[in-house]
Order: sequence, then C-alpha cells, then structure tokens
Amino acid sequence: MKAVWLDLVSRRIVEGDVPEPVLESDSQVLIRVAETGVCGTDRELAAFRFGEAPPGETTLIPGHEALGQVLAVGAGVANLKPGDWVVPTVRRACVPPCRACARYRRDLCVSGGYAERGIFRLHGYMAERAVDYADDLIPVPEAIADLAVLAEPLSVVEKAIEKAVRLHEEGVGRALVLGAGPIGFLAALALQIRGIEVAIHSAEPTAHPKAAKVVSAGIRYCAALNSAEAFDVVVEATGSAEAAFAGFRHLGPGGIYAVLGGGVGAGHISFLDLIRNNQIVFGSVNASPESMALAVTDLARLDRRVLEGIIRRAPLADFRRTIFDPPRDTFKLVHVMPG
Ligand SMILES: [Zn+2]
Ligand SMILES: [Zn+2]
Repeated sequence: MKAVWLDLVSRRIVEGDVPEPVLESDSQVLIRVAETGVCGTDRELAAFRFGEAPPGETTLIPGHEALGQVLAVGAGVANLKPGDWVVPTVRRACVPPCRACARYRRDLCVSGGYAERGIFRLHGYMAERAVDYADDLIPVPEAIADLAVLAEPLSVVEKAIEKAVRLHEEGVGRALVLGAGPIGFLAALALQIRGIEVAIHSAEPTAHPKAAKVVSAGIRYCAALNSAEAFDVVVEATGSAEAAFAGFRHLGPGGIYAVLGGGVGAGHISFLDLIRNNQIVFGSVNASPESMALAVTDLARLDRRVLEGIIRRAPLADFRRTIFDPPRDTFKLVHVMPG
C-alpha cells in the first residue's frame, strides 16, 4: 500500500509502498485511512527535531490526526462493522501498564513508556490502511464524517476546557484564547458553545484571512488587548513561551490558565499574585478517549459552515509542500489518502 514515511537515519521524507497491515488479534480492526490532518507536530517530525521509529526500525510513518472507515473486524469486535466511520486515539498504553494506563487514561501515563501513533514508537496514518484495537477507535456518525478529521485536535482542547471549567469556583463567564491556529480556533468554538463569552488574541493583524474567519464565526478577535482586561479562563495555544507569559497578565482573580502550546523560554509569574488571586495554572497534553468522544459529540453541535471553513484538502502527493509551506489562510490542512 502507498505510504509516506520519515527515514530517521538519512533524514529524508519518502513516498512509496509498504507492507499491508494485517489483523493479528480478534479484538483488532482493519481500517481504510480516508484523511489525515497535518499539524505543528508533523512539521517538527518532518524537520527531524523529534520522533522515534518503532522498536527495531529506522523509519516512521507520520500522521496522528486521522479519519478511517472500517474494512474488516476481528471475531471479538462487537461495536464496529465494515463501512463504519472511526477516528483513532493517538496514545497507546505503556507495558506493563502504569496506574493511569491501566484505567485507560494513557493521556495521564506516569511511566513515560507510552507509544503514540505517528510520533513515538508506532507508525501513524499517512498510509492507505491501518490496524488498531477496537478500543482505540472512536465511532463517528456518518453525517459528520467529513468533519471528523478535526476530532483529534478538538479533543486536546476538550480535555483542557473541561478541566478549566471544572476548576473555576464561580462559573466561567469570559475566556481568552491566545493564538489563532487550529487549536486556538477550535478552543474558542468549544468555549462559545458552552455559553462562554470568548475572545481570541493573536499576532496576525485584523485584516489577516484567519482573523476574518474568526470574526465570521461570531468570535471577537483582538490583535492587541487592553492591558486592564481580565478573563476567568485563559487558554494558551501559541507555541510561544513569551506569548504564554504575556497572556498570564490577563488572568483575573480565581482564574484558570491552561497551557497547550507554551514552547521553550523563560519568563516571570509572581507566586505572590498567584496566591492572592487564587489562580491555577495547568498544562494539558494529548487527550483521553473520553475527550475524543466529547470532540465527536461537539463536532455535531458546532456550526458546520465554520468547521468546513477550517479544513482545506490536498492530495497525499502534495505532502512536502503542505508540511513545509502551509497556505497562510488555512487552519487545518488535510491529506486525502489515495486508496
Ligand atoms: Zn496534531
Ligand atoms: Zn502508562
């Protein structure tokens, strides 16, 4: 079958044929990969800044944001049948499982021995077909299959927002999202459908096509923020430590600060202010199967027109251009698999 892979020794991106995956257990499912989304993680992988091949191999098939359609199921699979649409979760348990992995919360793995499809120690979905355990696949209603490639990035946001809203003791009225990338835009949409007044603050000028899309979704867009403005929740999705520290100044009393991008860099947060203002700062990575299921539910609730405007599709053969030079007006580039 056709696939794209990273040769981690020669540091080349290769397109070619790889062996077909086969069912090795009654609990597994063979899927046709229909679409694979590209994100900043894939760009880091393609620049060979991180990533790890499966044990004993020197290549890694990237792609962790996927939409699949079931081709065949093992004898022990009851909840899926050929033709069903699914989105795979990314992380797989450490072996033997730690206390978090044992209760199916691989996103909270404490041993660090987990694997991630398309990132660490497992091949991803930039291939025509893949095999997964049924438990690692979240079913998707046919009516939103064309949007479901957004489920993985949305799940990252769902986990953080659920936690921020749960931790805020007075109820969240106003939220600020830092960064107008796919994660930032999806975070704003997920906050908006919870009845929270939301603004996005990002470096792009208000005339930028991404800013226009944010505004047309009914979300306030600020290229500059009034220094006195404070929010109950701030979601950082910039990938910049400098922006993350600057955004902290807009966290109100009792506020919750969710760091999703961060980046490497030093800055200053006053512990004294943190204490006086009863504030909480937390980081959040990856997503649980529950967050993935919540993302699928929310995709059906969100404005279809807005979600369609987030996605731009390209053939797999374009992967070099899309990875290294993504179109500036596009939030989520999605590769359509040839199979
Ligand atoms: Zn991603
Ligand atoms: Zn674990």
